[in-house]
Amino acid sequence: MPTIMIAYVEQRQRLVSDGDAEHSDGGDAGQENIGALGVAAAAGDIALAARDFGGMVFIPPATLLRPSKTDDVVRAVCVARRSSRLTVAARGNGHSVGGQAMARGGVVLDMRDLGPPMELVRCGGVAADVPAGALWEEVLEWGVRNHGMAPTSWTDYLRLTVGGTLSNGGISGQAFRHGPQVANVAELEVVTGDGERRVCSPSLCSDLFFAALGGLGQFGVITRARIPLVPAPKMVRWIRVVYKEFEEYAGDAEWLVTRAGSEAFDYVEGFAFVNDVSDPVNGWASVPILPGSVFEPAKIPAVSEPILYCLELALHHNHREAAGVDERVKEMLWPLRYMRGLVLAADVSYVDFLSRVGRAEEEARANGTWATPHPWLNILVSSSDIADFDRTVFKRILRRGVGGPMLVYPLLRSKWDPRMSVAVPESEMFYLVALLRFIAPRAGDAALEEAVAQNREIIGCCRSKGYDFKVYVPHYESEADWARHFGRDWARFVERKRRYDPIAILAPGQTIFARAE
Ligand code: FAD
Repeated sequence: MPTIMIAYVEQRQRLVSDGDAEHSDGGDAGQENIGALGVAAAAGDIALAARDFGGMVFIPPATLLRPSKTDDVVRAVCVARRSSRLTVAARGNGHSVGGQAMARGGVVLDMRDLGPPMELVRCGGVAADVPAGALWEEVLEWGVRNHGMAPTSWTDYLRLTVGGTLSNGGISGQAFRHGPQVANVAELEVVTGDGERRVCSPSLCSDLFFAALGGLGQFGVITRARIPLVPAPKMVRWIRVVYKEFEEYAGDAEWLVTRAGSEAFDYVEGFAFVNDVSDPVNGWASVPILPGSVFEPAKIPAVSEPILYCLELALHHNHREAAGVDERVKEMLWPLRYMRGLVLAADVSYVDFLSRVGRAEEEARANGTWATPHPWLNILVSSSDIADFDRTVFKRILRRGVGGPMLVYPLLRSKWDPRMSVAVPESEMFYLVALLRFIAPRAGDAALEEAVAQNREIIGCCRSKGYDFKVYVPHYESEADWARHFGRDWARFVERKRRYDPIAILAPGQTIFARAE
């Protein structure tokens, strides 16, 4: 039975002529050698591979393949290698926003069908061998249901693939404590650009292992990851407290992420929101944890800033300890300088807590904003620049919000292994600023253009003020921008590319390297 599916070139041509004529170059490359790969996929598959969550870039590949085992990936890479122009992009769940998982006129590998199924392994501790196309949501469900175990580090949203987030970083409120997802991997299986399948770890082919982590898909297609597991807690005390002053918010958040052991929360995040009762997306309505919980605006002083801040905390516990949890939380919140009275809390199951953004997705699908463009911008900003960033960006440029969450919370550089490819600011403490823009369904092109222009203004401002910052899930077009992004690690990045993907077949949608003719 054929395990790889291939699209008819006629289907690709139809898609191109249906509205993407400017992206039709590379079509000859699409036909070249492609017959070696298998049988046809549906036109819908090609359309899928030409789009991503950002909804701003449409780049049809020559073909979409559905590898079900590592050998299928090896075969696709070898076919591309033998051709004169074909490229190969692994597509996780297509949740990039700038075409990073696309391949113009090339081969897109839909990683979602890759097997074998997840497996528990004992290797010192307990870990899971996970196919790279698995969603983190599937890893959670499998681990908790079958073994009562789970990884320690997550993303906020779990419908992202293991290979997709490991190619970027994988950040959420656990990262201050356990590191990002890229720092929580014991082993990888990778198919490099020379068509070789390699198993690597911190002690075996370690350069490839660290290259692939945060490597933007440049050095190999990750086909399997070994993720350490710990016993999963049953419950989470989920807390939100509101601040008027950024300095107090940031000071408390920074203090919290330097706590350790029993003094530390299990999760620290936070967001800026608009001090406005009438804004249903960015205003006070964004603060309550669960439907029905009440935010008491009367507690906000009458004269206040345009932007307020909400610190989001979580503490794991098990049912039988619940009595002690109240006392412990009270003690842990006591030193914080939030506005007294503006505290919300709920006990939810661990799985429900980790699945919280999935529920927001359902709402966004219902109101149409999941399908509109998403000009998202994620930046990592040094703590030494974050107060100025707040004054310039949150309080001035974004004082009316972004139509979605504006996350801002601190992380620790020492939790990021410098041997990994991912670029982070220089300072030990830096903030993730995530501007998760949703464009209203009937807002039109002007709203999208304005959002994109604002993003440009924000990056321009970070540069002109000389902030220590990096774009997270970056998207640049020019070599100069990429060289600046990686800074002193650019030479290492280029050398790794030469070593593992010498003719630049892989992940062309990142627009870092051009395939050699
Ligand atoms: P894709 O978008 O499909 O691919 C991303 C890149 O990785 C591409 O270059 C692709 O070629 C490459 N790639 C994919 N799979 C592989 C593989 N197996 N081997 C090698 N390269 C591969 N990020 C966070 O850190 N924390 C969050 O909380 C978070 N929340 C998000 C919520 C939403 C709704 C969205 C849309 C994005 C979020 N992100 C978050 C960003 C997310 O981590 C990245 O966009 C990630 O790349 C998406 O994963 P994906 O599986 O969809 O990858």
